[in-house]
Amino acid sequence: MLTANAFAATSATGPLGPITIERRDPGPHDVLIDIRYCGICHSDIHTVREEWGESHYPLAPGHEITGVVAQVGDAVTKHAVGDRVGVGCMVNSCRECANCLAGREQHCLNGFVGTYGSVDRDGTITQGGYSSQVVVNENFVLRIPEGLGLDVAAPLLCAGITTYSPLHHWGAGPGKRVAVVGLGGLGHMAVKIAHAMGAEVSVLSQSLKKMDDGLRLGADAYYATSDPDTFQKLAGSFDLIVNTVSAKVDLDAYLSLLAVDGTLVNVGAPGEPLALNVFSLIPRRRSFAGSMIGGIAETQQMLDFCAEHGLGAEIETIPAEKINEAYERVLSSDVRYRFVIDIATLAG
Ligand SMILES: [Zn+2]
Ligand SMILES: [Zn+2]
Repeated sequence: MLTANAFAATSATGPLGPITIERRDPGPHDVLIDIRYCGICHSDIHTVREEWGESHYPLAPGHEITGVVAQVGDAVTKHAVGDRVGVGCMVNSCRECANCLAGREQHCLNGFVGTYGSVDRDGTITQGGYSSQVVVNENFVLRIPEGLGLDVAAPLLCAGITTYSPLHHWGAGPGKRVAVVGLGGLGHMAVKIAHAMGAEVSVLSQSLKKMDDGLRLGADAYYATSDPDTFQKLAGSFDLIVNTVSAKVDLDAYLSLLAVDGTLVNVGAPGEPLALNVFSLIPRRRSFAGSMIGGIAETQQMLDFCAEHGLGAEIETIPAEKINEAYERVLSSDVRYRFVIDIATLAG
């Protein structure tokens, strides 16, 4: 076993603090990564605080990991010592079901293994990227292309793929009118990516507070959803709406903004059921859909796309000791647009 420094929660209610955790010795197909940066995702907070179910403690969260390969197993062919790499939301899956074989590991029929707080296929509980090192099977390790800084690349591993996948799947590109609901960690990447794909991009945000940012990131238009005129004015005007907000919204109001054959896709996950009137769908053959991260091959495609277009996340880099403070700021939407932990600051 290897020992790694980490920053972890020991209960659902207390603050996170420094601890040491164990990592398995790298097997023949494993890659040992020296972690350099890890993004803070809202899911980390939900999991630490048991808002999505029971958690195992101590729990080191983090699934927006970038670093450098320190060691590889004998049978590893995809990565070499010194390579710049990343790890996202998954570290394993069954690799033999129809979805895994089709490159949709996020929909593994036997359940993918999450990067932290999941039972791995060897029975151990996974620990995430708020730590100095991680050991991951080579098939779940991504290549970070040259030209993408490891700090701004970290949030791409969750926020980037979560928004790239639906934009790609539903054909965002030239001639497509795309709206992004919410300009936060996910939304700001959705705007950058949809713009780089060539779509006409609008932001639908509660207020016009972040309008300058939205336009700078690539939006063509910016609207306040608190203004009832917005819904009247924009009726039937989008082909695709990506909703990144995890709060309860008026689905019928958002569906009314779709053109014929338009799709409203939720990547934000509200904790309570949402109601909708089916007549918001029927007359214009609209769809209401969901999307969750992306497969490993698609995640690599996203990283290559972002590198090619010079897209990194907008980040605020923090030392490990500021993680608890950062959580409070995430909860009050006081971040533009992603916190990234400088892992060099983990005590050792
Ligand atoms: Zn995430
Ligand atoms: Zn599978």
